Amino acid sequence: MHELIWKNCLKYIKERIPNQSFSTWFEPIKPLKSEDNVLTIQVPNQFFYEWLEEHFVHTLKEAISREMGSGSRLEYSVVMTDEHKSNANATSLKINNLEDRKGTNHKGINPAFIEGLNGENSLNPTYTFDNFIEGDCNRLGRSAGLAVAKKPGVTSFNPLMIYGGVGLGKTHLVQAIGNRIRTDDAKKIIYVTSEKFTNQVINSFTNKNIQNFISYYRKVDILIFDDVQFLRDKEKTQEIFFYIFNHLHQAGKQIVMTSDCAPKDLKGLQDRLVSRFKWGLTADLQQPAFETRMAIIQQKIQEDGIKIPDEVVEYIAYTVDTNIRELEGVVVSLIAHASLMRIAIDLELAKRVLKNIVKEIDSEVGIDYIQKTVSDYFRVSQDDLKAKTRKKEIVIARQVAMYFSKDYTNHSLKSIGYYFGGRDHSTVIHALQSVSDMLDTDARFRYSVDELKKKLKMRTA
Ligand code: ADP
Ligand code: MG
Repeated sequence: MHELIWKNCLKYIKERIPNQSFSTWFEPIKPLKSEDNVLTIQVPNQFFYEWLEEHFVHTLKEAISREMGSGSRLEYSVVMTDEHKSNANATSLKINNLEDRKGTNHKGINPAFIEGLNGENSLNPTYTFDNFIEGDCNRLGRSAGLAVAKKPGVTSFNPLMIYGGVGLGKTHLVQAIGNRIRTDDAKKIIYVTSEKFTNQVINSFTNKNIQNFISYYRKVDILIFDDVQFLRDKEKTQEIFFYIFNHLHQAGKQIVMTSDCAPKDLKGLQDRLVSRFKWGLTADLQQPAFETRMAIIQQKIQEDGIKIPDEVVEYIAYTVDTNIRELEGVVVSLIAHASLMRIAIDLELAKRVLKNIVKEIDSEVGIDYIQKTVSDYFRVSQDDLKAKTRKKEIVIARQVAMYFSKDYTNHSLKSIGYYFGGRDHSTVIHALQSVSDMLDTDARFRYSVDELKKKLKMRTA
C-alpha cells in the first residue's frame, strides 16, 4: 500500500521539479509504511532530510495530501551512517518523528528560540582592515582575509584558518573580514567564539531544540569561528560543529576559523575535524617586528588623539616585544598615568610605567644596568657608550656592554643596537666578535670580563 502511495507521489513530484533534483533527492528515498494518515519514508542521512524540508516541503505536502487526503502527513526515518553509529553522541541527532515540526519550513526559525543567540552577528565594528597594520608577521593572513572578504565562499581559502599565539591579532583579523563583508547585507554572517558555541550547544540540548540550533547555523553564509582550540575534548560540541561545518562547506559557504596553534598541534580534536581544517588555507600570525610595533603604537595614539614623542614610541616598541595586546596595554597605561598625574608623556615616565607592567624587565639584568656597571668599571660615562666617539677605551667598554647585553637579556641584536645610540645590528655583531677574540688572546681582558660577570651575577642572584 505505502509503496503505491509513494509511487504516485513521485510521479506528481517528478513533473514539478528539475530532473537532476529529482534523481538526487527523491530516488534514494524508500517508503516504509503508511498508517493513520502518516506516510513514513526513509532517507539516507540527516542532511538529506533537512534538504528535503528546506527545498521541497511544499511539493511533498501537496503530493501526499493528494494521495492520502488532507490532514495526512509525512514522517522521516533517517538511516544512521557508519560514521554516526560509531559515535554515541550522534544519536541525539537522529530524527525519525517529525511531529512537532509538521509543516515547518526551517526558514522561519526564530533565533531567540536558542539560548544565547539573539539574531545579532556579534561583530565588533572597531575591528577593521583599515586599522589592522600590515607587517611581515601577518601579510599572508591579511591578504587571504581580504580575498575571502571580497569573495566569500568562492576562493580556495575555505576554510580560512588563522592561527597564532595570544594577542597577535587573530580576533581582530577575522572580525575585520566579517565587517568588510557586512556592507553586503544579503549575506548572513555569524561571529562566534567556540566557547560561546559550546554553551549554546549545551543549552540547546537541555532545552531540546538542538535541531533549531543546527538549522540556525546552517543558514549562515559566513561562519567566523574564533578560538577553535576551545573545543578540545568536547566531543558532543565537536560533533555538532563537524556537522555544521560539512553542511556549510558543501553548500559553498565561507568558514573562517582561528586557533592558538597549528592544526596539526590541535590536541583533543577529532582527526576528521582537523583534517577538514586543512582543506583551505592555513596562515599563521607571528610576533610583529620592531617597525610593525612602531606603526601599531603610532596608530593607536593617533586614534586616541594623543601626542607622544617619537623617542617614547621607539622605546616602547623596543621594550615590549611579546605581543600586540601587551603593547596596547602599555600605551593605554602610559596615557592613563600621564593624565592622572597631569604631566606630559616623556621617556622618563615611559620607563617608570614600563617597569610596573613588563615584569621581565625588572627581574632580569637590563641593558641599562649593564651599561652602568660596565661604564663604572672602565671609568667611562654611560653616555659615552651611546655616543659616537671611537676612543679605544670607550670602544672596548661599549663592546663589552653589548656582549653582556646579548648574554644576559632577551634583547635582539637590533634592539641592543638601539640602546647603544641607535647603532646598527651589524655593529653589535662586530662587537660580539671582537670581545670573543680578545677573550681568546688577552688574559688581562679575560680577567676584567670575569670581574664584571661577578658584579652582574650579584644582581641576578
Ligand atoms: P588574539 O585574538 O590573537 O589573541 P586580538 O585580535 O585580540 O589577538 O589582538 C589583540 C589586540 O591587538 C587587539 O586590540 C587588536 O586590535 C590589536 N592588534 C592585533 N594585531 C594588530 C594589527 N596588525 N594592527 C593593529 N592592531 C592590532
Ligand atoms: Mg582572540
